Amino acid sequence: MECAPMSVPSPEVSDPRWLLRSVFGYDDFRPMQGDVVQHLVEGNDALVLMPTGGGKSLCYQIPAMVRPGTGVVVSPLIALMHDQVDALVQAGVRAACLNSSLSSEDARGVERQLLAGELDLLYVAPERLLAPRTLALLDQCRIALFAIDEAHCVSQWGHDFRPEYLQLSQLHERYPAVPRIALTATADGRTREEIAQRLGLRGARRFISSFDRPNIRYTIAPKDNARQQLLSFLKREHPGEAGIVYCLSRRRVDETADWLRRQGWDALPYHAGLSAEDRRAHQQRFVSDDGVIMVATIAFGMGIDKPDVRFVAHLDLPRSLEAYYQETGRAGRDGLRANAWMVYGHQDVVMLRQLLEESAAAAEQKRVERQKLEATLAFCELTACRRQHLLGYFGERLAEPCGNCDNCLNPPPTWDATEPARMALSCVYRTGQRFGVAQLVDVLLGKDTERVRALRHDRLSTFGIGKDLDARGWRTLFRQLLALGYLRVDAEGYGTLALTDRCRPLLRGEERLELRREVAGRRRSRGSRSERFVAEADQQLWEALRACRRRLAEAQGVPPYVIFHDATLLEMLDQRPVTLEQMAAIPGVGEARLAKYGQAFLDVLAGKPPPGPA
Ligand code: ADP
Ligand code: ZN
Repeated sequence: MECAPMSVPSPEVSDPRWLLRSVFGYDDFRPMQGDVVQHLVEGNDALVLMPTGGGKSLCYQIPAMVRPGTGVVVSPLIALMHDQVDALVQAGVRAACLNSSLSSEDARGVERQLLAGELDLLYVAPERLLAPRTLALLDQCRIALFAIDEAHCVSQWGHDFRPEYLQLSQLHERYPAVPRIALTATADGRTREEIAQRLGLRGARRFISSFDRPNIRYTIAPKDNARQQLLSFLKREHPGEAGIVYCLSRRRVDETADWLRRQGWDALPYHAGLSAEDRRAHQQRFVSDDGVIMVATIAFGMGIDKPDVRFVAHLDLPRSLEAYYQETGRAGRDGLRANAWMVYGHQDVVMLRQLLEESAAAAEQKRVERQKLEATLAFCELTACRRQHLLGYFGERLAEPCGNCDNCLNPPPTWDATEPARMALSCVYRTGQRFGVAQLVDVLLGKDTERVRALRHDRLSTFGIGKDLDARGWRTLFRQLLALGYLRVDAEGYGTLALTDRCRPLLRGEERLELRREVAGRRRSRGSRSERFVAEADQQLWEALRACRRRLAEAQGVPPYVIFHDATLLEMLDQRPVTLEQMAAIPGVGEARLAKYGQAFLDVLAGKPPPGPA
């Protein structure tokens, strides 16, 4: 099998589909990819918006190989650059990178290759690219295209602003004939306009794909005992798989990671309070080992390109739906089944509202943040399809309910909560809008406590009127009333509840209230259906394939997914190739990887024992 198709230019090299098949091992372009590739091959500019995992890389990698010269890729994160280059080299593509992590000797080597026309792709950090030395070098080369990855880094309003990105408009002035492509997974319209303007890409054709992530299943459950809930979720759906658990505070991160480890899970903490060294080490393990769970604050995530993150769990409510979408979007980049799972309770609402009120932000900023929090809460209490709502929030319409969120799979029963809601609100009012949920529930249930007697709450008209619900039922109702804006939390941090204007129509009897019903011990029915990745019977073989991949990855010092993605291993499990020819047909194999690894995986599939340690 010829495994270096690029070294001898053949007529096929100018055929994108042939490259897709022989180098990357895929039969078809995804819907938008083919168009972008064609557009670029013809020498035009493009602005590409695709969600994470949408397949942006091939959009410039293939044109860079088809067009004469070297494709220059600007990428802001050194770790991502190395992953991409490693994966390309595995596939037999002549790729290299230039950044500050290279020794000057290695950098000279790359420069020589570039000058000799031996590179199809060169990944460069933006500051490196704009250095006079690099520009002088590029002046002497043939450039196939410029690809500007993570293009939202030009946006001064975003979290990822990189001042060097602003200088990238120079590229067009210096090399007007070279086509450029800018790519991002950031969906919002303002960022899109900023990219077009600041990079001088106003005239570029825009390719905007749907931001839906159909392989991600959204589930939000009421918080009961968060740790136990997390544990049963992990046991039921993700044994041995990699995922991220987000918590709001460092302390909760540490405690949760500790606790998971004591339960036998391979969990690590990540937050800004750890030393840079520990953070690096933990991130490294997460990326290169199979099945590590990262318990993290939101400080973790940017620059994580791991394709096989199988779940993202939120133990605390995210600040906005934008944050939720970005954080959950780190699951399932490889397109395989993934879970976005969250628990939330009324304490989350209280805490976030307080953080917001206490913050030093300007009034206008606070108003915006309050709206974002409200949108998040409404999303949690939603009884309709979560995906439709989420995409709608970002301005995209999904015609049908998705069938892959908790509300679609298990339509939540609703109930007429009008009367109990009125009772709850009037209890808040009668007690002077100075108490938290615990006391209010005691009053409604007519509990004879010291506090009740001391405050003379047993003399109120609302004392003991709420025996139709139990304490848990009332707590749920208070959470829902908070989430839906009928109640607000004080700013002082005591968790006391007060009425809002929103209450009036309800209290006056002009409005009814339908809420989702929470059934104790719910969701058992669904849990019984297997949500597992690999059938029980195949589990052993699956582990053997992963072990083989791990061995090969360790020997070369690359992450396992650089050898093969999970999707490719699953195809092997499914199709059970016996010959190299059959192996060649597995999506994601390609000629170079077939030559290097085909036999090793065929041996595993045939049940041959792995080679002993070298
Ligand atoms: P992005 O950069 O948009 O997040 P990637 O370029 O990393 O996405 O691609 C995501 C995943 O999809 C990778 O596993 C990649 O191999 C796979 N992929 C991309 N294009 C195709 C295709 N045409 N057919 C099958 N898989 C593809
Ligand atoms: Zn749905």
